[in-house]
Amino acid sequence: MPRPIEALIHPGALSHNLARARAGAPDSRVWAVVKANAYGHGIERVYASLRGADGFALLDLAEAERVRALGWRGPVLLLEGCFEARDLELCSRLNLWHVVHCAEQIDWLAAHKTQQPQRVFLKMNSGMNRLGFTPGAYRSAWTRLNALPQVGEISLMTHFSDADGARGVAHQVAAFEAATRDLPGERSLSNSAAILRHGLANDWVRAGILCYGSAPDFPAHDIRHWDLRPSMTLRSRLIATQRLEPGDTVGYGSRYTAHEAMRIGIVACGYADGYPRHAGSDTPVLVDGVRTGTVGRVSMDMLAVDLTPVPAAAIGSEVTLWGCGPEVGGVPTELAIDDVAQAAGTIGYELMCALAARVPVHLAAD
Ligand SMILES: *Cc1c(COP(=O)(O)O)cnc(C)c1O
Repeated sequence: MPRPIEALIHPGALSHNLARARAGAPDSRVWAVVKANAYGHGIERVYASLRGADGFALLDLAEAERVRALGWRGPVLLLEGCFEARDLELCSRLNLWHVVHCAEQIDWLAAHKTQQPQRVFLKMNSGMNRLGFTPGAYRSAWTRLNALPQVGEISLMTHFSDADGARGVAHQVAAFEAATRDLPGERSLSNSAAILRHGLANDWVRAGILCYGSAPDFPAHDIRHWDLRPSMTLRSRLIATQRLEPGDTVGYGSRYTAHEAMRIGIVACGYADGYPRHAGSDTPVLVDGVRTGTVGRVSMDMLAVDLTPVPAAAIGSEVTLWGCGPEVGGVPTELAIDDVAQAAGTIGYELMCALAARVPVHLAAD
């Protein structure tokens, strides 16, 4: 028997979540953001569920090739654009749309030999200070692009730093609008948090994390609030149990001490599977669908859980690290990835992207 850990990808949840993006931006076209191998899910595994989107946005050219190999003939957008001049050949060959965020990318376009004018998304740095032209430099970049025979339609784009938090998006929207007021072209501003939290939708929205069933603004709101469903389950089983007496400790560094007699279970899941090592004791976990917590340090291949709330648990009991658990009394159970991430001092994005290659992944029946 293989080691009992596996990840499940839930097609029904992916299409449900994509429909939530559409409902939040009913007059917009929706990019399904599938960078980082579809946030760790696998581009090939999510494709059938997300192909109802208007386009796929990603940043690795090899991932763009994979989307085309799946038969997708619609828009594909490279979110960071080209990394060197010869990437433009692939853009021409695969008809990729690409972001232009710096003067060098315009130079490369000007030198590119193509019969086919390329569609570009000109990116403004409206305050994030990662990629893009400042509002003051934006218009001259647009004018330069617009004069190139290599360039067809120019769309206008920016990205928010605080759509999920207290600062919000208004200051960046104002900077963007002031600098683009009389420029033609389609607009793309919103990520998941801007769609859900601010109801902001222009010609194109960029829906990433919401497709995958994690709340972009957790803990202010959770996936139930936004009516999102987990698209990834990580589950395993108990491979041992131990009885502890008061004073007994658990795991490396003896980071947990039992204060009374208790039973713990040992789970076949560790940081080499992508489970966060920084998750301290009492990180939530389901055993046979019952919520309990971890005890002690996460090790490479194992972690320990408190079995006090699940006295019937034994070797073979199902353990849900995140996602969908078994039914209990006919009711499905669920553990949001955001709850686990918070206990480890991170965000759902990081956990799903970090699912390790050694974990077998299967498509769920739903
Ligand atoms: C990753 C990314 C997104 C998607 O962000 P989510 O928070 O996952 O919705 C949108 N736009 C750009 C430019 C990105 O890099």
